[in-house]
Amino acid sequence: MSVRVRYAPSPTGLQHIGGIRTALFNYFFARSQGGNLILRIEDTDQERATSEAVQDLYDMLDWLGISWDEGPEKGGDFGPYIQSERNEIYREYTEKLIADGYAYRCYCTPERLTALRTEQERSKSKEKGYDRYCRNLEDGERRELEKSGKPYVIRFKVPLEGKTSFNDVLMGTISRKNRDINPDPVLVKSDGFPTYHLANVIDDHLMGITHIMRAQEWIPSGSLHILLYEAFGWEPPFYCHLPLVMGKDGQKLSKRHGSTAVRDFKNDGYLPEAVMNYISLLGWSYDDKTEFFTREELEKVFSLEKINKAPGVFDYKKLDWFNGMYIRQKSPVELRDLIIPFLIRDGIIADPPTDDQEKVIGAMIPLIHERLKKLGDVAKMTRFLFQDIETPKPEDVIPKKANAAKALEILNLSKDLFKGIWGSGDGADGEDMEQLFRDTAEKLHVGLGALLMPIRAAVTGSKISPPLFESVRLLGKKKTLERIDRTIRLLEQKLEQEV
Ligand code: GLU
Ligand code: ZN
Repeated sequence: MSVRVRYAPSPTGLQHIGGIRTALFNYFFARSQGGNLILRIEDTDQERATSEAVQDLYDMLDWLGISWDEGPEKGGDFGPYIQSERNEIYREYTEKLIADGYAYRCYCTPERLTALRTEQERSKSKEKGYDRYCRNLEDGERRELEKSGKPYVIRFKVPLEGKTSFNDVLMGTISRKNRDINPDPVLVKSDGFPTYHLANVIDDHLMGITHIMRAQEWIPSGSLHILLYEAFGWEPPFYCHLPLVMGKDGQKLSKRHGSTAVRDFKNDGYLPEAVMNYISLLGWSYDDKTEFFTREELEKVFSLEKINKAPGVFDYKKLDWFNGMYIRQKSPVELRDLIIPFLIRDGIIADPPTDDQEKVIGAMIPLIHERLKKLGDVAKMTRFLFQDIETPKPEDVIPKKANAAKALEILNLSKDLFKGIWGSGDGADGEDMEQLFRDTAEKLHVGLGALLMPIRAAVTGSKISPPLFESVRLLGKKKTLERIDRTIRLLEQKLEQEV
């Protein structure tokens, strides 16, 4: 049996971590088995589906390099399957269900259904949901209604007795009493579009899907789907419901934890290979210790057996670490090409960069290569090399446990040190400078960190910057001394105001 799997998102929002995890698992499973992956856009909820969501789906799959293997012909290529284009097919199969006695038309008005619900709530009735009124219509009455042209939905006849079970690769047997299934769910809405359940089952069958890998939240729908397969006389596929993705606090991953839209990770400057690698480990592991996998490796080693039952924990810090590791693997030239779009986007350099900017970029790569967590941080980290900075606020210049006078002393002293260093041209390198400042820190009885803090703030305008002395060397004598001077004046003013 050749494996055929699908990723079947509903385009109602941006692709998020959980959805893309499902896509990746299906993709890697198909590849590892020499099978096929299908992309199916489940857009039958016309009120919620948006074209932005569809575009985002294409963009994110493309960014992560997830491609599908077949689909209907589209301008010389093949597109995904799109459910809203397949209404004829669903209609045909629904007619068959009605003819075979598995489904029926329901003419109840929204008013009647609302009244029914209100009454059930008021009387705290054990009966919940639809009361199967139209399931039991007299033949004559039914014919009248059919002729009347009244709007209707089509409902599935859930058996009143018995139970329905299916087997899940991870979860084992899942059973549900039929009377616990929502009474007679809608298969076709009054707008003529199928609901998720109907279209999903028909398509999985027609597309020859062998394994359904999807989020655990779909388990409750499983029994209804099995009943539909039985009604059609079809064999259901294998099921593998994927463990939840949680935040570190054990709650389902949501916006409360941070971004969950994959697009945000792209915009923040995460590398697609890092995101792909990290997401693959959310609920899957190879051997408990190997963490780094290339796409090619995952395409070989991914297997259903190694999917965990326990939820996957999405740890933003861990992803940062992964991303940093992948950035380190880039060559300087690759990193240059990667950061330039971010520098342009954030208004740091011109598009295309000027020759001077190119020079600075080339020189700063070694300074940021080891410490960049995400490409999007590059602007914050290096703006001071390209643009003038604002004079920092006094509180950002004064080290903890020190005061303005101390900061002033440090700045005056470092100004002299820099002047000395540069007195004879541009000689000293970063290491020499560092040694000099180390000795000075000792003399002043302050830590090196406390000594450098005001200088860093004055020169880079930021608490985080590439290594300070290398940065200062890159920035050059004139700008460095100018910025230190400006901050010195600021502190002097502050001290004057205080007396
Ligand atoms: N359209 C459903 C979703 O968006 C697909 C669920 C399934 O894979 O069956 O999650
Ligand atoms: Zn009805």
